[in-house]
Amino acid sequence: MKVAIVAIGDEILAGDTLNTNANWLAARLDERGVRVERMTVIPDRIDEIAAAVGEYADRYDAVLTTGGLGPTHDDLTMEGVAAAFDRGVAENEAVLRWLSEEGGYAREELTAGTADIPAGARPLHNSAGVAPGAVVENVYVLPGVPSEMKAMFESIEAEFAGEATYSRSVETTEPESGLLDRIEEVRERFDVAIGSYPSETVRLKVTGPDEAEVEAALDWLTERVEVVEPE
Ligand code: ATP
Ligand code: MG
Repeated sequence: MKVAIVAIGDEILAGDTLNTNANWLAARLDERGVRVERMTVIPDRIDEIAAAVGEYADRYDAVLTTGGLGPTHDDLTMEGVAAAFDRGVAENEAVLRWLSEEGGYAREELTAGTADIPAGARPLHNSAGVAPGAVVENVYVLPGVPSEMKAMFESIEAEFAGEATYSRSVETTEPESGLLDRIEEVRERFDVAIGSYPSETVRLKVTGPDEAEVEAALDWLTERVEVVEPE
């Protein structure tokens, strides 16, 4: 399963908010064996949201958006996602029920638009806040507030499944340029992918579908690189 993550918000593009939601979602999806192939940040504009969501919905098995819910003027995600599927938004009965039964909001006190989701979409309950999420075709619309986004993702994560992969890492004091021969050889010998992540030391990450193969590849590498001694 291949997916795209779209973070929506002018404040992210302005550098005011760090896009931790996309990072968190990517890690959770990766753990489930789902391949994240795109991570995009776009402004709070209906045309931009419709264009990005429409393109990725065709191209990937699923799209997850975060941000821009709620009824304020700058929250345009529901309209944008609806436009991607040539629909409008509509007030959703289930959402109105949640808001009145759990939120204690009478229908007439709700700001107009609070219960609007794309017409025909499946509403997603916001257990940590007010604004609902939605699922339209293969697009999952999640909130921007991290605690709300996480709770809502956890309610639908079973819908995301891929091939399970296993990962193990070793850290080495050798410079990355000097490791190329062993990286190449381990890839030839074993059915694994190797990631190389340099900072002060270099972390080599071995990933593959077979746990024993990953272990064997890591053992092979560990014997052949200068391993960072644990402090
Ligand atoms: P609300 O209903 O409260 O308006 P929302 O779903 O519309 O929530 P936004 O208005 O887009 O979400 O963002 C609300 C807050 O959530 C932002 O001020 C920011 O602190 C945080 N936030 C939004 N997007 C992200 C993101 N991609 N990563 C981390 N934090 C985010
Ligand atoms: Mg908002």
